[in-house]
Amino acid sequence: MTADVDNVIIIGSGPAGLTAAIYAARANLRPLVLEGELSSSSDQPGGQLMLTTEVENYPGFIEGIMGPELMGNFRAQAARFGAQLLTEKAVRVDFSTRPFGVWTRDDEYHGRAVIVSTGAQARMLGLEAERKLLGHGLSTCATCDGFFFQGAQIGVVGGGDSALEEALFLTKFGDKVTVIHRRDQLRASKIMQERAFKNDKIEFVWDSVVTDLVGNGSLEGVRLRNVKSGEESDLALGGLFVAIGHVPNTSLFAGHLELDANGYVLTHDGTKTSVEGVFAAGDVQDHVYRQAITAAGSGCMASIDAERWLEAQGD
Ligand code: NAP
Repeated sequence: MTADVDNVIIIGSGPAGLTAAIYAARANLRPLVLEGELSSSSDQPGGQLMLTTEVENYPGFIEGIMGPELMGNFRAQAARFGAQLLTEKAVRVDFSTRPFGVWTRDDEYHGRAVIVSTGAQARMLGLEAERKLLGHGLSTCATCDGFFFQGAQIGVVGGGDSALEEALFLTKFGDKVTVIHRRDQLRASKIMQERAFKNDKIEFVWDSVVTDLVGNGSLEGVRLRNVKSGEESDLALGGLFVAIGHVPNTSLFAGHLELDANGYVLTHDGTKTSVEGVFAAGDVQDHVYRQAITAAGSGCMASIDAERWLEAQGD
């Protein structure tokens, strides 16, 4: 048990958490960052960018930068200003009394303020080859990676607004975009459906699921099964985007913070949550923008909000 009370405990170490750590450290708050642990479920330290290759849309890097390198820089910058980084995963919280309690497997921490930045993870298909090919032809973010697929045959899995938005965006790059959906009706809004149906570059494969990814080193295609006929087929692809939704990493906070119907932390007036003194930043509270730069921006906001709140408490 750790008897000390930290000023700020930051849970999560993606762009939001580490930006919050940089700002809080530079405000002399000596934040404690529980950065998570290596994981097979994409909530690893460094967040979702650890699963990408080149990041070309993060401002400041003219030639782009590899996702893990970018997050390594964030981390080193936070450490340089005195943030304490612990490679531990929060497993329990108690926000009902102050100082707030946060537990890891082996330890217990107390903070005057808490910043929740545990992120979200893209829902994946659950295929073995996914881990190997993620960042090598397989992606979960068209805004991030679409540019790499100029002239390619691209596949998109999903039938919601995200899938169609990604498909429409990808027509700027690919020769053809094939939307693979498990039913014969889209879940997406009518306006998105109309746009997609009108686009000559977009084709649909209905009633079909991806049963395997083909490719050694990088993606070359997918194996499909028609769920009605049972028929199997192969589709050659240069890129595949999985757009079947995101899951916020908030199971830890259920019953402690107000969450929306999809499990995202509800924030108001900047980064405030339903508990005074607990702030939330990044994808854990944002299902709209989901960019590293917007997550970093909201991490900065959370740190400033926490600092001002602590000042107002006289702590
Ligand atoms: P979503 O609406 O939940 O759609 C997920 C899609 O993926 C569904 O079509 C679902 O199929 C399919 N799916 C789920 N699990 C699957 C699996 N294991 N294998 C194959 N397919 C699977 O998620 P979303 O598209 O990310 O959208 C999330 C929210 O954000 C929605 O409210 C959406 O309207 C909103 N959004 C809005 C915009 C916009 O307005 N421009 C853009 C993006 C997102 P079924 O249909 O069969 O369930």
